[in-house]
Amino acid sequence: MLEKFFGVFLKKQFSSIESSTLDLQKNLISYPALEIIRKLKKSGWDAFIVGGAVRDLLMKVKPKDFDIVTNASPHEIKSIFRRSRIIGRRFRIVHVYIANETIEVSTFRKSNVSNSLDSYGRILRDNAFGSIEDDVKRRDLTINSLYYDPVSERILDYHNGISDLKRREIVVIGKTKERLIEDPLRIVRIIRIAAKLDLTIPLKLKKVMRRAGSLLENIPKARLSDDLLKLFVSGKSLQGFKYILELDLDKHIFPNLALFLPEKKRGVANLKKDGFIYTALKNLDVTVCNNESISLSFIFAVLFWEKISRLKMSYVEQGISEYISMQKATSEILQDINQNFYFQRKHITGVRELCLLQSRFNKFLGKSPFSLIRHARFRSALKLLELRVKLNEVKIETVVWWDKFYNCPDSEKIQMVNSMRGKTGQRRSYKKRRRKKLSTI
Ligand code: ATP
Ligand code: MG
Repeated sequence: MLEKFFGVFLKKQFSSIESSTLDLQKNLISYPALEIIRKLKKSGWDAFIVGGAVRDLLMKVKPKDFDIVTNASPHEIKSIFRRSRIIGRRFRIVHVYIANETIEVSTFRKSNVSNSLDSYGRILRDNAFGSIEDDVKRRDLTINSLYYDPVSERILDYHNGISDLKRREIVVIGKTKERLIEDPLRIVRIIRIAAKLDLTIPLKLKKVMRRAGSLLENIPKARLSDDLLKLFVSGKSLQGFKYILELDLDKHIFPNLALFLPEKKRGVANLKKDGFIYTALKNLDVTVCNNESISLSFIFAVLFWEKISRLKMSYVEQGISEYISMQKATSEILQDINQNFYFQRKHITGVRELCLLQSRFNKFLGKSPFSLIRHARFRSALKLLELRVKLNEVKIETVVWWDKFYNCPDSEKIQMVNSMRGKTGQRRSYKKRRRKKLSTI
């Protein structure tokens, strides 16, 4: 009786809304996600698409991935899907493989916050099974806590997420400060999601984010790098980057380097329109929106370039050759950055190559131009060269020359190189080596 009585109140804690009244884009749901929910429900379990995917479907954006939650345990899920695997040591979730897609299916989870915080207030364990009500509480934002059942075509909304989405506003579930301290990565997630969907971050929330910013220094670098990368490839990197500067987070993301913008110029007011980084990120966003491939090495090379270039110049001034100076500067800056940022080896190699290739753009004679345009990273290196015009490091004529040289027929290439003789102040780039006489024994 008592349970029934309280049940009425509990039921009132959420609204169940027919998705057809909300213009949810069902056609953007992947077939495997639908199939998994159908099967789980057919076996008698509850199952929902949850989180970012529901948010994106309501905003008419194609979700990047589909997360599914259910009240079935990992073993029960596994028994339903032949091609599936239980993964994770701390919290067990199931990967279900259908038609070349891997979909993550998790059991409702609860966080035992009270007894699992570290000395910073960060959450350590988040690994007990729970009810849907528990599951909803551990999610970060109201707009990320919508549960959609595509079979019954209803959305469960526990925190007025739909209304916040309509108002286009980010709202944190629970006590904002505590939730950001609990997991500071949420600061980056807010920025990423606000930028991606053009949502507003209320002033009050911005203040808390700015104050909690230093906590970003304590989270594992692989987690932080992962989310930052998502931001850079979101097609909204410029807006996201503006937030990072506005909230003074760059100094915490790369605490040992005033990266991105030289120290004197820090702050969003100085992200000069049409400047080096502004243009690079704007171009990057266009590339992503056109579904063209992008190179993460290129993005990193752009972000770190001003630092590398300045250090290189200081070596050149000490009388060290251009090439060696560039080599030293790139290695040292990358090593510094590596302390805070998780880099894959291929990206480190990529940044190094892109930087070293810059010194080769001064060589117009001999074989060098021909081998340079054959380099796998030539196009990216040329894009970096073009951006350097913004820093007055390179003349636009140089960029035009290389672009033409790359695109013209071979006969014209030879003419172009010949016509550079005597113009560049450069000596012949290669000498005929005299063969050493073999000594006779
Ligand atoms: P994206 O569009 O980048 O996939 P997303 O919100 O879906 O954005 P995911 O990393 O896919 O991000 O996470 C899925 C869901 O899991 C989120 O929507 C949110 O409900 C929950 N979630 C993820 N990370 C956190 C976190 N750090 N704290 C609380 N909840 C989180
Ligand atoms: Mg997602």
